[in-house]
Amino acid sequence: MSFEELYGSAPEGTWAAPGRVNLIGEYTDFNEGFVMPLALPHTAVAQVSRRGDGVLRLFSADIDGGVVQLRVDELEPLTNTSWAAYPAGVVWALREAGHPITGADIHLSSTVPTGAGLSSSAALEVVTALALNDLYELGLNCQDLAVVAQRAENAFVGVPCGIMDQTASACCTEGHTLYLDCRDLSTRQVPFDLAAQGLQLLVVDTRVKHALGDGAYAERRAGCEEGARTLGVPALRDVPYEELTEALARLDDPTVRGYVRHIVSDNHRVEQTITLLGAGDVRGVGPVLTEGHASLRDDLLVSCAELDLVVESANAGGALGARMTGGGFGGSAIVLVEDAYRDAVSKSVTEAFAAAGYAEPRIFVATPSAGARRLA
Ligand code: ADP
Ligand code: MG
Repeated sequence: MSFEELYGSAPEGTWAAPGRVNLIGEYTDFNEGFVMPLALPHTAVAQVSRRGDGVLRLFSADIDGGVVQLRVDELEPLTNTSWAAYPAGVVWALREAGHPITGADIHLSSTVPTGAGLSSSAALEVVTALALNDLYELGLNCQDLAVVAQRAENAFVGVPCGIMDQTASACCTEGHTLYLDCRDLSTRQVPFDLAAQGLQLLVVDTRVKHALGDGAYAERRAGCEEGARTLGVPALRDVPYEELTEALARLDDPTVRGYVRHIVSDNHRVEQTITLLGAGDVRGVGPVLTEGHASLRDDLLVSCAELDLVVESANAGGALGARMTGGGFGGSAIVLVEDAYRDAVSKSVTEAFAAAGYAEPRIFVATPSAGARRLA
C-alpha cells in the first residue's frame, strides 16, 4: 500500500536513513571508548506528513498488520512490543525533550536486513527522527537526532544499546568511516575509499541468531564495569594500552580479565586503524580486523561457530582480514578483500558453510554510503 492509498494524500516529504556495519571497535561504546562504523547502501525510507490532532499513524510495508494508530499524548514507555515501538519511541523521545510533535502519518519501508546485526532498528528510528526534525523545524543536528533515537530504543523499546548505531545512521558520509569517541561524542569523518584502492568490504550475514544474545550483553556490560571499578577508573577507556599488562595483573577474575583485555586492545585497534588509513594503508587494516575477531572470540566470548567459520574460510580463500561485527552470537561478519579475490573468497565461505551443514550465508558489498538525508 502506498502512502496515498493509506492516508488519502501525498506525503509532505520522503527521507532515508541507512543501516551500518562497524569496521572496528566492538563493545567499546559502553566503555566510553572508540568505534568506527560506516553506513550501508541499504536504507529505511520514511514518507511522512504532519498532523495537528495528536494522532500518530504508522505503517510498515515490510510487516503484515496494517496501520498502527496511537495518540502522541498517550505514548507510554515499554508498553508496545511490536515494531511500531521504534518510530513511536522517537515521537515520545522528541516530546519528552520538549519538542511539540502534534501527530504524523508515517509510511516506512526498508532494505536493511532485520536482526542481522546491521542496525535495521536504528535506521527506522533515525529516519523517523530526521523526518520529524525537518517537518517540525526542530533544528536538531545529526548527533542530536542520534541521541533522541537512542533514547527511544533504550527507554521506550527497552533495548540497552549504546550510541554507535544511531550515530552511524544519522551522521555517516559517503566514502568515509565515522570515528566516534563514545565519551564526549566527538566525531571525525575518516576517508575510506575502498574502490580507489581496488578493495571491497564484504558483509557476510550468517542468517543465524543464537538465543544467548540479550543476557550475554548485560553480562559483558556488568563485567566491564566491575573491571573498571577494580582498576579504579571511570571506564575501561581510561586504561592505556601501554599499561594493559599491569592492569590485567590486578584482576583476579579470569572472565573479567578477558573482557578488559578485549576492550583495551580493541580501543587500540581503532587507533591503529586510524593511523593506517591516515597513511593510505587500507590493506594494513586487514590483519587488524582478524586480530579483533580473535579477541572477540577468545577474550570477550561473543562469537559463535558460524562467525568463526566466516573468518577462517574467508582468510583461507585469500581475504586480507575479517571479523564478526555487531553484538555477535550470529548476525554478520565483515571481510576485507582485493577486487580480484572477491569471488574466490565468497566461494570459500559459501562452500565452508555448505560443508558444515549451515544455511547459505547472504553476502553483499558494503560500499561506505551516506547517512540520513532527505530524498524528496
Ligand atoms: P537489528 O537492528 O540488528 O536489525 P534489532 O532486533 O535491533 O536488530 O531490530 C530489528 C527490529 O526492528 C525488527 O524486529 C522490527 O521490530 C524492527 N524493524 C526493522 N526494520 C523494520 C521494518 N522495515 N519495518 C518494521 N519494523 C522493522
Ligand atoms: Mg538494532
